[in-house]
Amino acid sequence: MKEIVPQPPSIVHNEMAEIQSLFNKNVIPSYGRFDIVLSHGSGSQLWDVTGKRYLDLGGGIAVCSLGHAPSAITEALIEQSRKLVHVSNLYFHAPQGRLAQELVNLIGPGKCFFTNSGVEANEGLFKLARKFGHDEGRFEIITTYNSFHGRTLAGISATGQDKVKKGFEPMVPGFRHVPYNDLQAMRDAISPATVAILVEGIQGEGGVTPATPEYLLGLRQLCDEKKLLLMMDSVQCGHFRSGRFQSYQRILEGVPRGDKFMPDAISMAKSLGGGFPIGAFWVRQPYADLLSAGTHGTTYGGSPLACAVALKILEVIQKEKLADNAREVGAYFKGGLQALAQKYPSVIKTVRGLGLMVGMELAPSIPAFSGEGKTPAVRFTNLLHEAGLIAIPAGTHILRFLPALNLHKDEAAEGLKIIESVVAKLAS
Ligand SMILES: *Cc1c(COP(=O)(O)O)cnc(C)c1O
Repeated sequence: MKEIVPQPPSIVHNEMAEIQSLFNKNVIPSYGRFDIVLSHGSGSQLWDVTGKRYLDLGGGIAVCSLGHAPSAITEALIEQSRKLVHVSNLYFHAPQGRLAQELVNLIGPGKCFFTNSGVEANEGLFKLARKFGHDEGRFEIITTYNSFHGRTLAGISATGQDKVKKGFEPMVPGFRHVPYNDLQAMRDAISPATVAILVEGIQGEGGVTPATPEYLLGLRQLCDEKKLLLMMDSVQCGHFRSGRFQSYQRILEGVPRGDKFMPDAISMAKSLGGGFPIGAFWVRQPYADLLSAGTHGTTYGGSPLACAVALKILEVIQKEKLADNAREVGAYFKGGLQALAQKYPSVIKTVRGLGLMVGMELAPSIPAFSGEGKTPAVRFTNLLHEAGLIAIPAGTHILRFLPALNLHKDEAAEGLKIIESVVAKLAS
């Protein structure tokens, strides 16, 4: 007898495999992605398409400053998009003017330019430096090893890591690298062509390494002495992540003359937009007018919609005292990791960071991670994922925690419990 009802499809519907196959077929494979297909989030919680829940301590790489799906951002998006989404930079509009004013008030006398990403903000700094030194024939920018400044050609040229440059040579000329936190090396590297120094206040991708107070104050003195611009890449470590708006403000707290410190230019992005793409750079007076009319531009940068979201985020951060929260919950979390490092020295080598930018360096030879394969940082991250926690690897042996600035202490405690469960297994 012939079947009338058709057979059910032989392949069981599998959303995860289906989405991954869309990527494999259609998305350029420049990322080694983790085996997770995410579906939705709320605060510091994330769910994948199989329904598994994760505690998110990665924050979309220090981007989701208010966590996932915060109602404040949804409301700002709806309200502004009903009025004006985009007009280009040929005209004035209130959100960009107001956001620039907020940033200037938070940093110091100067002016801002808005971009769509971190690397574009850095590109603005490179052009500022070139313009500054142009008439004297100076163009060289010194950056540090293990720095990260983005993925455009100038970004990878500025970045002090060979792995991002490989295969894309020749690099944009005019970038040199020296060891981080080494003032003498910086002094020795300055040539008659040098025009600027670019450093992160806390190296992020390089493994969560804060600058020392002496380094920052020394760089300022060196730049004044040699007529160089001191530029800071605050794309990852900025926006209250350290417990202060800028990481240098936190690093120099209580240090003699520390409150007088001011860089000449700062790049920002990541947490600034909480997930909506926006970046910015601030330039100190008297350099703020160097990029005069016609010298720099962007079609999308600083749109009413992007600026409205960034303004709302600043408002929530201030209203809910999230800088203090980053400082307090960050100290609690870092303290918890340090206790784990003492208890399990065979797994955790060191813990470092400021506020909610915390790095955990794994011990060099964990038996479970011996042999060929992925780096210990990636293997550890996979174990955390299995246990229900999202973290971000950096370098070969470092785990980064860059959660939402409104992370609750209970969530930090849950995170420590999950991390201990993974560490304890590796130690035994
Ligand atoms: C992420 C990052 C960048 C690049 O930002 P994009 O938005 O990816 O272009 C630049 N500098 C630092 C320090 C970063 O962490």
